[in-house]
Amino acid sequence: MTQALGSFPGGLVLSGQKKRSTQTPIRRMPLTKILVLPLQQHIGEPAVAIVEIGEKVLKGQKIAAAEGHVSVGLHAPSSGTITAVGEHPIPHPSGLSATCITIETDGEDRWIDRQVNEDISQLSSHELRQRIREAGIVGLGGAGFPSFIKLNPGIHHHVETLILNGAECEPYITCDDMIMRERAQGIMDGIEVMQLALNVKNCVIAIEDNKPEAISAMELALASRTQLKNTKVVVIPTRYPTGSEKQLIQVLTGKQVPSRGLTLDIGIVLHNVGTAYAVGRAIKHGEPLISRIVTVTGKDVKHAGNFETLFGTPIHELLAFCETKRQAEEPFIQGGPMMGYNLAGDNLPVTKTANCILVGVDDATESTTPLPCIRCGDCADACPVSLLPQQLYWHSRSKDLEKTREYNLFDCIECGCCSYVCPSQIPLVQYFRFAKTETMNQEQEQQKSDHARIRHDNRQERQERERLEKAEKQRKRKAALAASKAAKAKKEAEAAAETQTDKQET
Ligand code: SF4
Ligand code: SF4
Repeated sequence: MTQALGSFPGGLVLSGQKKRSTQTPIRRMPLTKILVLPLQQHIGEPAVAIVEIGEKVLKGQKIAAAEGHVSVGLHAPSSGTITAVGEHPIPHPSGLSATCITIETDGEDRWIDRQVNEDISQLSSHELRQRIREAGIVGLGGAGFPSFIKLNPGIHHHVETLILNGAECEPYITCDDMIMRERAQGIMDGIEVMQLALNVKNCVIAIEDNKPEAISAMELALASRTQLKNTKVVVIPTRYPTGSEKQLIQVLTGKQVPSRGLTLDIGIVLHNVGTAYAVGRAIKHGEPLISRIVTVTGKDVKHAGNFETLFGTPIHELLAFCETKRQAEEPFIQGGPMMGYNLAGDNLPVTKTANCILVGVDDATESTTPLPCIRCGDCADACPVSLLPQQLYWHSRSKDLEKTREYNLFDCIECGCCSYVCPSQIPLVQYFRFAKTETMNQEQEQQKSDHARIRHDNRQERQERERLEKAEKQRKRKAALAASKAAKAKKEAEAAAETQTDKQET
């Protein structure tokens, strides 16, 4: 469908490198002997393990429960036995370890009982959100934000439009493209659920024009859904980073999300097409989120493609399955070349946010020592948020965090356009990530010290109140004692006086 489109400043037209992984249909990664499941696979509080070592579990059984509001649970991706609950390396740029549950699979892949639910019209928004939360669903576009929260606008926001993000603008990544080509009806199931949960008037499925097969498949599936009359497929130009939330909204509606604001502030909610598919499976088929489509690609991957992979599958097994040429310890990228991050080891599990494993970037330039900034301004021209990366760079480098805030550091979406075009090869995004982390650490420290000060003030206030109460009690006790002494003395005096009178009369 054609519609007048808006635009955003900057951005880049990149070589897609997507063909390599779209030549074969989605394949299933075979079940591995061991599955390692980090308790933190989403933004928010980590889940809490509810299983013990030695316990037998079924496929789809909850093994960790959500903790706090911004959190979701975790489910066993296959049947087997819990063999460990403890530290294990996780896919993180810093090489961190974190608490994980390890399952030794039994090869039977036995499911829990699943509740199939074809008619969802009787379910309330609240019930739908609860089930989506129970199913452990998070945004599968890469960020991992719990989906039930984005489906709950609250009383202060009204959602006009739901956007399904099928832009997938990063080079190499094709998992959304392939899921739209092959599972369009499943995505429509999820869109139906999301629309019911949000009670929205309009829905747009946005797809970049470099995915003609996905566009046809989604249009065909949509045409068969009478209950999705308010929904349309909109084809948008291929330009990086159109798939980022705020840029996609600008392209589709011409509206801008306020600085440091939410898409909800302008009545819009976005979900990734893969997330919609997971929501459909959860609500209509009773399946929690236990796997995802992962693109495995790059010039060193012999059988590149998209693989339905259970969470916890060791990455080295996935790479071996694709016959990847990679020297031990040679880094690879999780995510795309622009926004992904390098991982050094491969004894790491596939998690909910692992959209792509990239081994060998085709046109990678030798990394050289960055040269001094020549103030060419190319970075500012490329920035899709109209920031001034050169200034941000100076202030991040000199750790002047106040100034980085003044230059709207937190509006930076870390798209990497500035680093990509910089002729001096300055890794600008790395400076911005560092400055953001430092600022957040400082804010946390400030919060901690504010809390400590408030606690200290409260304690002093309580101690003073207790001292005054004690003094008042003592004063009252003394007064009561004095009064009783006086009464006693008075009584004695009266008695003495009476005795004296008796004597005189005698
Ligand atoms: S692109 Fe690089 S060299 Fe040019 S102004 Fe920006 S930081 Fe400086
Ligand atoms: S990484 Fe940040 S500063 Fe650089 S182009 Fe993207 S949004 Fe702009």
